[in-house]
Amino acid sequence: MWATCGDASGTAGGEPPVRVTVVTTLPDRRLLLVHAHPDDESIGTGATMAHYAALGAHVTLVTCTLGEEGEVHVPELAQLVAAEADQLGGYRIGELAEACAALGVTDHRFLGGAGRYRDSGMMGLATNEHPRAFWRADLDEAAGHLLEIMREVRPQVLVTYDPNGFYGHPDHIQAHRVAMRAVELAAAEGIAPAKVYWTAMPRSVLEAGMTHFAESSDNPFAGIEHIDDLPFGTPDPEIAARVDATDRHAAKEAAMRAHATQIPATSWLYAIAGNFGAEFMGVEYFTLAVGEKGPGVGPYGWEEDLFAGLGLDGEAGRAPVVAAGVR
Ligand SMILES: [Zn+2]
Repeated sequence: MWATCGDASGTAGGEPPVRVTVVTTLPDRRLLLVHAHPDDESIGTGATMAHYAALGAHVTLVTCTLGEEGEVHVPELAQLVAAEADQLGGYRIGELAEACAALGVTDHRFLGGAGRYRDSGMMGLATNEHPRAFWRADLDEAAGHLLEIMREVRPQVLVTYDPNGFYGHPDHIQAHRVAMRAVELAAAEGIAPAKVYWTAMPRSVLEAGMTHFAESSDNPFAGIEHIDDLPFGTPDPEIAARVDATDRHAAKEAAMRAHATQIPATSWLYAIAGNFGAEFMGVEYFTLAVGEKGPGVGPYGWEEDLFAGLGLDGEAGRAPVVAAGVR
């Protein structure tokens, strides 16, 4: 943990506030992920989270809402939905805890505390106007909650969505805005993360998937004639990092299954996993929004490590790996 001491309020003599920060026990590599709803962390970045947790990095997950407006795919829990008992959000706290355990992630928080911000539902729905809807959140207030966490954890790397929230959901767009505003606020204090990544899917990977599934009866791309019709897909040269965590694919799948109300056991996600195996589950891609790209490989110099180029490769950086007994 980080401890902040000294007089941060300034003095009567007009001297600037003094803030002394002391590092105590957190590992050298610290990764912060900002997601909109419970399950987004597992679907979008579960392998990366499990990968870095296993390497001994400190992985902090911040989830902005409880996902109250989700559907329920478990028949006996169907009445938890917002339109009936409106208990889904509370239930999903437990699903998220189980997912984090599967990923090996121990530091998880809800932005502003559990229940501060409500799932806004899909774009244009009346739920966007709920008084606690995350979509309506005051940007500086919400970013302030994230800034508090950044002061404590001091992540070198932050992961969130692109300006379209990867696929256009209001809470994903808002998570992007809040995270980027918090980075600005952190920069003003001299504690900004060195790198900010946005989740991404290379067009080449999508094209391979569309080709592979074209003849399948369970085609997740059914009705999509061209890759441009999808709300995501990044040209390969714009991808900055490819995290290969295929050895963690089982952890990611277990985390996804923990979100049982959201992802049916029959989901095409698992069908793809069966077809593409460890690569589909275990490899995740990112664009770099802030910071300098480190050394990489392949035709586009894709980084293999989100901490690449940050100078954390010394003995001290490796110590937690040995301690964690990673093979
Ligand atoms: Zn979501």
